[in-house]
Amino acid sequence: MKMNLCPQEERVLQACSTGEWPEPLRTHAATCPECAEMVRTYQWMQEQAYQDIPHNLPDPGMIWWKAQLMQREILEQKAIRPVQTFQRASVVVTLLAVFLIGLWRWPHLEKWLGAWTPGLERSWWTLTNLSPVFTTLMLISVGLIAVSVVLTFFAVLSED
Ligand SMILES: [Zn+2]
Repeated sequence: MKMNLCPQEERVLQACSTGEWPEPLRTHAATCPECAEMVRTYQWMQEQAYQDIPHNLPDPGMIWWKAQLMQREILEQKAIRPVQTFQRASVVVTLLAVFLIGLWRWPHLEKWLGAWTPGLERSWWTLTNLSPVFTTLMLISVGLIAVSVVLTFFAVLSED
């Protein structure tokens, strides 16, 4: 940090701003290193201040519009976050349920798949052959898939 070493500094600065230079002060500013530097700095700052720099600032209306748009996007993302979390959870639960049901009811699935394969023993798969637990889990899976599809549909619509 520069310290004020010259006692004439304040007068020199005032002379810079007013443009009135008494002869003893002009001589001092020319010979004193601190004051000479201050005068050069003052002149440089004046040149910079009055230089014709093109101001390529965007239209304030455009800035306001973009800010509104960004704020709306942030609010939308915040609002949709719980829906996205539910979607991910429902996909995981559905896949897990389908996998567990497949493991649990593999013999029935094997028979059912055999029914669709020509040349193998034909056995028909019906809902009446299923246990209530299996039917309940199947309905829960279908329900979760349906909810997930609906939420995905709304999420896609809200992005447009
Ligand atoms: Zn000085």
